[in-house]
Order: sequence, then structure tokens, then C-alpha cells
Amino acid sequence: MASFETVIGLEIHVELATKSKIFCSCSTEFGAEPNKNTCPVCTGMPGVMPVLNEEVINLAVKAGTALNCDINLINKTDRKNYFYPDLPKAYQISQYDLPICSNGYVEIEVDGKKSQRALTRIHIEEDAGKLIHLEDEENTLIDYNRGGVPLIEIVSEPDMRSAEEAVSFLKNLRAILVYSGISDCRMEQGSMRCDVNISVRETGSDVLNTKVEIKNMNSIKEVFKAIKKEEKRQIELYSYGEGHKIKQETRRWDAAKGRTITMRTKEDAHDYRYFPEPDLPPVIIPAEKVESIRNTLPELPKQKKERMVSEYGISEKDTEILIEEKEIADFYEKTVELSKEPKEAANWIITEVLRVLKTQDEIPVTEVQLSDLIAEVKKGTVSRTAAKEVFDEICNSSKSVGEVIEEKGLRQISSSDELESIVKKILEENPQAIADFKEGKQKSFGFLMGQCMKATKGKGNPGTIKGILEEALNS
Ligand SMILES: [Zn+2]
Repeated sequence: MASFETVIGLEIHVELATKSKIFCSCSTEFGAEPNKNTCPVCTGMPGVMPVLNEEVINLAVKAGTALNCDINLINKTDRKNYFYPDLPKAYQISQYDLPICSNGYVEIEVDGKKSQRALTRIHIEEDAGKLIHLEDEENTLIDYNRGGVPLIEIVSEPDMRSAEEAVSFLKNLRAILVYSGISDCRMEQGSMRCDVNISVRETGSDVLNTKVEIKNMNSIKEVFKAIKKEEKRQIELYSYGEGHKIKQETRRWDAAKGRTITMRTKEDAHDYRYFPEPDLPPVIIPAEKVESIRNTLPELPKQKKERMVSEYGISEKDTEILIEEKEIADFYEKTVELSKEPKEAANWIITEVLRVLKTQDEIPVTEVQLSDLIAEVKKGTVSRTAAKEVFDEICNSSKSVGEVIEEKGLRQISSSDELESIVKKILEENPQAIADFKEGKQKSFGFLMGQCMKATKGKGNPGTIKGILEEALNS
């Protein structure tokens, strides 16, 4: 059977982190009361005039510089005409043939191999409102709060060859946008949405076969699953000589059923009749402005990773986990600053903090709490096992580490005097075990250790006990 390769291009819509909308001064706040953040401009009343929000240009240029694009110092807006209830003007102001950024690339890493995937363009446009279909209600409701929220659309070349590459692309792109403050990229809130264009062809061929578009994916995990499923569907059709059945169409991913479903075919594709937006002048960006924006770019994930590996001596793999979310990276660095224990801090965050974050959105402890806990383990005040108990107790609580240790009686016995008398007592009670040990039975050492730990109710410092016991047995 012939072997196939997958050809994937991505289109990503990202809501920009501006306070107000793209053509009016309404707030962009997410989760406001329905239709509260609207005015005659963003609801498309006749006779109103749009005014372009300068911050949109600033953030789009910032995105372009962070993603290695050419910035088009002269660009323009165009009308994309179509009717849909969430778009009261019956056109969307977007950019057609002269976008704000061209070219560019995103680095990806799959199986330890690093490479680049090209971008075609980035353009600015306005978001549409939101249709709300209430359960058991015949009528559809509309919330125009999102109408006029500024977006950038980032379009990649059909440069990716697997779901793994697409996921790496999206993760890195998202991290760059969040780190540079361009967008919060909360996919679950819709502030980053992804359309996937996918086709398959025989390996080695350079034809581009009919592609299918999967629209509006709002989770990177689901993008992965959808690509896997769609490439399988297309490969099966080609393998059985039924490739002609793959139509250029838009499909929707049904996450619950785990499959893609036809939304519309090419026959009902829109002819948008783009034309230059007559109510807005061309956008002219001074070259100096691009340079000054480039200079405001913060440390991006790639540089952060390199610095963290060399500065803290933690592994590349751990660093990748820590920098995936900027909030976690910041939390880590503050904890290290307080505790001076980069490896311990990485371990606690990766195993415990991220575990809790699977079921909640907010980091459950403060940097002070975590660094105190690390210090107490280092001093031997608490054992590692007890420290986990302390961690669970300080999660989502304002209690200090010291308070929890006292409250739960978790203080470890590290005093040699106290432990020596316990060991002495255990040895007196177990002459047979001593005899066995002297005959070379290593097992009885473990038994005696266990008895000592039990006598301290698990609070004895095992390292100290071990030392005392060895000395007593070997003397
Ligand atoms: Zn408005």
C-alpha cells in the first residue's frame, strides 16, 4: 500500500488584549452582562463612523515582531461582505490584499528536533457577536459584547506534516503571544481559536490535494485528536480509490463523538466581495514606531528557557514544563528567589502545584508558603512525607507552613539525644535481631530501623536514626 503524508495549514484567531474595541470605545471585558458593552458603532447602526484603535496597531506590530514577520508600513482595511445574525453591519472590517504583517515563522520541536514553520501573514479584523442557543428555547439569543473586539488572524503556510507538529506550533505560538502581552489566549474563553486545513497525499508528491477545513477549535488537545481522525479518514478514502469523495468543505469537530462532521461544502462557499473600507484611511506606520515596539518585546519563551537552564541548572524537560504557562514560570522564579533552591522548587511545582492545577485555575499556594516549606524540609524540621501533608494543608489556605507543622504535630525529631535513647531502648528489647545482624543478616537492620521509626511515631529523622543505629551495631 502506498504511504501517505499529511499537509496541514493553520489559521488562528486571537483576541488582542486591548481595553476597548477596535472601532469604538466600548469595553472588551469578557463575561459582562449580555449586550452591556455595545454602542451604535459596534452594533452597526446607520450613519456611524469607525475610528481605528491605535493600540490594535501597536499589538499587531508587536505580534509581527515577536513572530519574525515583515511589517507592512502601509496597509489597509477592507470590507468582507456577508450576512449573519451575529454581524449586524452585514460586513466585517478585515484586511484583504495588504495585511499588516507578511511572512514570519514559528519554531517547533518534535521528538527533540527543532525546525521552523512559515507564516503567510497576520491581519487585523473585528470579531462578531455571539449567538446563544438556550436549551429548550425556540429562539436564538444574541450577545453583541464580542462584536468589534479586535482580533489578529495568523495564517500559516501549509507547512506542517503531522498532528504533533501542529500541536508544537500552536503551543509555541500561544506562549509567545501570552509572554508578550498580545493576548491572554484563553482557548476555553474563545480568545484564541484555531481553524485547521488538512489534506493528505502520497509521500514524496508535491501536489496539494483537496483540503478540508476544520473550524473553530478551542483546545490544542482537540486539535490533535481532530487532525488524527481527519487524516485517517482521508487516507482510507485514497487507499480504497475513493479519493474523489474528499470534497473541499468545512467540517466541525464533534468532541463528544470524536469525529468531524460536514458544516458546509464549497457549493455554499461565500463570495465575500472584498473592497477597500471607505470609512477608514490606509494605515501608515512610521518605521521608528516598529523599532520602538520591537524594543519593548519582553524575554520570549525560547530565551527564557535557555536562561533558566543555565541559571538554575534544571533540566531542559523540566524547564519546558515550567515555561509553558507564563504565570507558572513567574511563580517558579519568585519561589527560587526566596528559597535559593531551584531544583527543589522545580520538583514541587511540577509534581504538586501542577497536580492541583488540573482541577482549579489558580495557583494554590503563594511563593512564600512554598519556599518556607522547601526550607523546612532542608532543615529537617519535617520529613518529605510529612511535607506533602503540609502542602495539602496550605493549598488554598492562608495558613503559614509553621502553623500547619505545629497544628498537625508533624515536626520531625532530629535531636540526636532524643533519638539515641530511642535506639538504645529498641536494641535492648531486640537481642535476637542484633545477633542475626552480627551473623550477616542485613534484613534485621531494616527491622530495627522500622522499630525505631515506629517508636518515634514516624517523626524520627530517618537519616539520623540510621547513623545512630549503624554506629551502635558496628561498635
Ligand atoms: Zn461599541
